[in-house]
Amino acid sequence: MTKTIPVSVGIDLGGTSTRVGVFNPQLEMLRSESMHTQVSAGPDAAVKLMARTIDSLLIGAEGVRYEAVGIGIGSPGPINLRDGILGKLPNLPGWDGFPLRDRLEEATHLPVHLESDANAAAIAEWKLGAARDLGVDSIGMLTLGTGVGSGFILSGKVWHGIVGMGGELGHAVIKPGGWLCGCGSQGCLETYTSAQGLVRLAREVAESDEGTSELRNALVAPDHTTPQKIGLLAGDGEPAARRVFDGFGEKLGIGLANLISTLDLPLIVVGGGVASAWPFFADAMFGAIRDNSLVYRLAMPRQVATFEQDRTFVCPAALGSSAGLIGAALLPFMNEAGADVPAVHMA
Ligand SMILES: [Zn+2]
Repeated sequence: MTKTIPVSVGIDLGGTSTRVGVFNPQLEMLRSESMHTQVSAGPDAAVKLMARTIDSLLIGAEGVRYEAVGIGIGSPGPINLRDGILGKLPNLPGWDGFPLRDRLEEATHLPVHLESDANAAAIAEWKLGAARDLGVDSIGMLTLGTGVGSGFILSGKVWHGIVGMGGELGHAVIKPGGWLCGCGSQGCLETYTSAQGLVRLAREVAESDEGTSELRNALVAPDHTTPQKIGLLAGDGEPAARRVFDGFGEKLGIGLANLISTLDLPLIVVGGGVASAWPFFADAMFGAIRDNSLVYRLAMPRQVATFEQDRTFVCPAALGSSAGLIGAALLPFMNEAGADVPAVHMA
């Protein structure tokens, strides 16, 4: 006898790679596939590839049939969520104005729930990750990756702004006249605290160094210098690499200080691939938050690494780089039409 399992398809669309996962109602991932995002091939080709991948992932196992209730997709912002249309995306050049939600529905014949990737990550961290057992109903989430996204749950509701472009802290200017951002402004938080920003900070540190350092050697190496490599050097205690993360943490802290001063949130979660370097940048980050936010100085926990009720807790993501994918998969499981956040009951 064949058993039918309702499943949700989550998609985490990124500027570098795209992940597709099939989840059961307990949010366990049953199958998944990652692929390179072929940005230059254009969004229509990407949607075709997503649809083919979904078809192949939805083939059930022996004796099991998957019945998809829908697709949730997290995309880099800004997005016009009301109309399901991508905005001018610095990390997906040429995709602006693309009606992602409608095209994916046409290609898959499944209902599609579109969210910004950072909102999806915020929902996942709130329901299943860092906030799960803390009893807070407001969180801010930053995702540090190819770009810097941010998402907000305010009093139990996802904050979307007027048409869905709310929560783009990555394009808040933290240094007037600073580095040029893909969005056209100068000195955006993203230019310093994305993966590319970290590499650029490393170049700046290496160039200002007299003599040679391991960091400088790594940067002139013929292979592409990655944030991971800078992290490995910092882990080895290489002084120049440590200074890179000091600068990174300071910039991130300034952005977070402005956020805390604006919203007085009980919880801020920092995720995305670059956040795995947390041990190297946390001290500088907390220092900059303290220096730049009176609200934080008044509301900081006695130990910055320990959650305290009615205090502002800043912590790394619990779900790692899967938060966006899990959050996207949660969307179709919303238990009532129009609910802002799905009610999930986990064992
Ligand atoms: Zn920008």
